[in-house]
Amino acid sequence: MSQKMKVTIHNHSRHAPVRCLNCGATNDAATCISTEDGDPSQPMMPEPGNIIVCASCKHIMQWADGGGFEELSDETAREVAGHPLLVKLLAKKP
Ligand SMILES: [Zn+2]
Repeated sequence: MSQKMKVTIHNHSRHAPVRCLNCGATNDAATCISTEDGDPSQPMMPEPGNIIVCASCKHIMQWADGGGFEELSDETAREVAGHPLLVKLLAKKP
């Protein structure tokens, strides 16, 4: 894929501690990456349905209604698999 994707990387936001469903690491901050225009200096909180990548093990989850992490449904997993932004994130060294 050679098409350049426009992304906005927002300043990280803090949220209530949530444990990764895979490794159990506590995640309490999010760096939201949006494919829409926005002000990068403005922290952005995750919203229900947003895809979450664990900062420790890179397990892919989603933000649940009411906060917290939940596993992807099979349908969502199929939708996001191979998304260029996700591929880039997963390839990034910690
Ligand atoms: Zn994890």
